[in-house]
Amino acid sequence: MNNVKKVRQVKCYRCGETFGTKGNRGRFCSMCLQKHKNEYYVEWTKQRKKKYPWYASYLSAKCRCNTKSDIGFHRYGGRGIKFLISMEELKTLWFRDKAYNLEKPSLERMDNDGNYEFSNCEYIENRENSRRGNLGKSLSKETRDKISETRKEHYRRLRNG
Ligand SMILES: [Zn+2]
Repeated sequence: MNNVKKVRQVKCYRCGETFGTKGNRGRFCSMCLQKHKNEYYVEWTKQRKKKYPWYASYLSAKCRCNTKSDIGFHRYGGRGIKFLISMEELKTLWFRDKAYNLEKPSLERMDNDGNYEFSNCEYIENRENSRRGNLGKSLSKETRDKISETRKEHYRRLRNG
């Protein structure tokens, strides 16, 4: 007996088309497999959002600090702000601050120049968050120009790869 697997003709579970496969797990044709994976991913994301609602803030904060191509990097990682909080700690904060009661829970740092760490983080309502963000309007013109210049530079670099 040789080990070369023969192509078997099987019926796709989804569209019913017959297609050739070498594997034993051929249930979907390649077209349907992609769709199946996409749906599975969407479903999985939904489940994750339900089960671990703090995961989104974990990911976005981590990206702002560690990913240079992130749109907010210049305001976080670029300013030396470090991401030092774990999923487990975020979970604790989530329940401590009763973030599940908030309309749009948002992870904030109490000290704006401090790191993302347990002692410096809290969950607050997003509206309040944006109110804090509006404080930016009181910044001097030079600072604002500098920020917008950094942002432009960021986009330029993104465009040029
Ligand atoms: Zn199919």
